[in-house]
Amino acid sequence: MNVIDIIDKLASFGYVRPNKVSGNYYQIHCPFHNNGNERRPSCGVLLHDEYRNGVLYKEGWFHCFACGHAASMQDSIHKILQERGINQTGLEWLKMNVPDFEEDADSDILIPKDIMNQVTNKYALEYIQERTSSPPQEYISENELEKYRFVIPYMYERKLTDEVIAAYDVGYDAEWVPPGRTKKVPCITFPVRDKNGNTLFLCRRSVKGKMYNYPKDVTKPLYGIDMIPKGTSSLLICESCINALTAVSYGYPAVALLGTGNTYQVKQLKELGMQEFVICCDGDEAGKAATDKLMRALKSIAIVWAIDMPNGKDLNDCTKEEFDALYENRG
Ligand SMILES: [Zn+2]
Repeated sequence: MNVIDIIDKLASFGYVRPNKVSGNYYQIHCPFHNNGNERRPSCGVLLHDEYRNGVLYKEGWFHCFACGHAASMQDSIHKILQERGINQTGLEWLKMNVPDFEEDADSDILIPKDIMNQVTNKYALEYIQERTSSPPQEYISENELEKYRFVIPYMYERKLTDEVIAAYDVGYDAEWVPPGRTKKVPCITFPVRDKNGNTLFLCRRSVKGKMYNYPKDVTKPLYGIDMIPKGTSSLLICESCINALTAVSYGYPAVALLGTGNTYQVKQLKELGMQEFVICCDGDEAGKAATDKLMRALKSIAIVWAIDMPNGKDLNDCTKEEFDALYENRG
């Protein structure tokens, strides 16, 4: 959709009063408070899709930092029409007034409810300021991913299968030079994707020395969230991507924390609607602490089990038979 055209169309009906384009927003005088007569424009309409902290905000998203209105283009128009007693839905209006309007199949994928509940006016203000000043989230391009699509014997040594390598787009980068260094560190690349399959960043694991690297300042989401099979009710939670992929190749739907877990990942886990989680952290102190923390965080929304990983081991060290036995004895 062309957001600017739609807003201008709405303006021609007298439904909104646009101000100016600022960053990725079209600033408008909010139609939802002060009878649309607010003096300074406090409402922003997103011009293009944006991804922020793991949440996709669709183009046309309205957000007013004065009254807190936050909804999609379609729903916002619906509300405008309703308030004027016009018997037409937002979708009908769009189809009638915007010549090339195409119904977005995803149009009802909005901000998850529990995030929405946290949207206070202060939050909305920060949110709008941050978004008008920073460029939209960019994904790792298909061209870049294409460069890493090699399979090396090391992947098989780490128990990755061809199926898993293809599905998770595991790659190899022989040319990588870590920031601040001069020598190349050949590494395996794991695209970390959002639930829609867009690649947010790469997790790299050096072939020698098992060193993991992530870009600076990223909030780690659940690795593998886009690959959980439909209808999954029991999910395995691992620390590293290698462990999650080993679990998948052994037949267990799994995600990885890319570490020992953060609050954003706990939020994502809660939103999955799982009946059961099985935590499979590494057999060390950090793994035990992470297991306890996750158990406490998740036990109110699902049945939570933990696998007792032997000291010094992780899932990738286990054969399928060994892991099946550990899984059987989860407690
Ligand atoms: Zn408002």
